[in-house]
Amino acid sequence: VTVPGFAAGVEIVGVDGDDTLWLCQQYFDDALTRLCALLADDADSAAVEKTLEEVESGNLGMYGYGIKSFTLSMLDVGLRLTGNTLRGRQTRAIIDIGREMLTHPVELLPGAESAVRALAASHRVVLVTKGDLVDQQRKLRASGLREHFEHVEIVAEKDPASYAELLAALECKAEDFLMVGNSAASDVVPVLSLGGWAIHVPHRRTWTRELVPDLAADPRLLTLGALTEVPGVLQGGR
Ligand SMILES: [Mg+2]
Repeated sequence: VTVPGFAAGVEIVGVDGDDTLWLCQQYFDDALTRLCALLADDADSAAVEKTLEEVESGNLGMYGYGIKSFTLSMLDVGLRLTGNTLRGRQTRAIIDIGREMLTHPVELLPGAESAVRALAASHRVVLVTKGDLVDQQRKLRASGLREHFEHVEIVAEKDPASYAELLAALECKAEDFLMVGNSAASDVVPVLSLGGWAIHVPHRRTWTRELVPDLAADPRLLTLGALTEVPGVLQGGR
């Protein structure tokens, strides 16, 4: 893919972690399936899913993103759907689901390593990810990709203010910054709003909260089918 003029002059490329470099949402989906099985005597799957969505929405502002927060939300769902009679073994099982998520081996997406390596050869590359600090650091370490990043930023929320702060710290103007990621809400919209560039690489599993159904076309936005296409596009723009 060659797009003349796209991202011309971009100096720093931000890359998202979860479901851009390594699998993530799949483990949350699998956890939900297990939670549904655990609570099958008390509620059907649709009710578990709906309650989890409600509980998570209420908890995000307090607990933030990530697996620890998700585990607390699963416990809360269990208590709500059992009328606060969740059993000890169910509580144990929910905590264990969270612990297994936190120790799951990191699975890189196909071509992630070569794509990041290629990007780092032509641009300054930074990792911009959100969620549990400890878990994100663990995943980055296990990914083997750390050496390719000039800087790593783990934020509580990927909003315009967080990106603006990062760009100020990097002494980079928004028009010289491009973000690559699977989430329209976290990786695309806030960066475009600052005047930066974005490459959206949708992943087949993306949390509904990260979807933007009416994502508008923008000359500073490109949607690609795979991360492996990104280096070619950015080198074409140089
Ligand atoms: Mg992501």
